[in-house]
Amino acid sequence: MAVERTLSIIKPDATRRNLTGKINAVFEDAGLRIVAQKRTQLTEAQAGAFYAVHKERPFYGELVSFMISGPVVLQVLEGENAVAKHRDVMGATDPKKAAPGTVRAEFAESIEANSVHGSDSLENATNEIRFFFAETEIVG
Ligand code: ADP
Ligand code: MG
Repeated sequence: MAVERTLSIIKPDATRRNLTGKINAVFEDAGLRIVAQKRTQLTEAQAGAFYAVHKERPFYGELVSFMISGPVVLQVLEGENAVAKHRDVMGATDPKKAAPGTVRAEFAESIEANSVHGSDSLENATNEIRFFFAETEIVG
């Protein structure tokens, strides 16, 4: 296994309920290190471009609206096998299907307002990190 970096987003449903610290504790307890973090309000253009892979899906418009409905916390997480480890502790997209103890099982409100985003491959992680962070903002 190699040390990897992955992109995490704490979504507006979670920042609204003041859950940043509780979610960060799940990541840190899993051995992931937060090596960059910034709270921001995404623009419609940023959210639309970030989720462009989902453009053809029926929920795309609602997803973009949701992602700009409040602040998000953008993060780079680092650790052994970080991409898969992060996906594991996030849980399934649909919180009803997420394993107990995962972030989505504990905190998500719905399949859309599901509290967190995580890159789904190392290649996407690299691109998603670059979308939001300059190399100088990441301190390992
Ligand atoms: P994941 O975030 O688990 O990688 P996807 O990449 O498939 O899931 O979807 C991106 C995001 O779009 C999800 O996290 C969720 O916020 C939203 N989403 C996914 N499926 C649905 C759906 N059927 N209805 C509404 N929103 C959805
Ligand atoms: Mg995804």
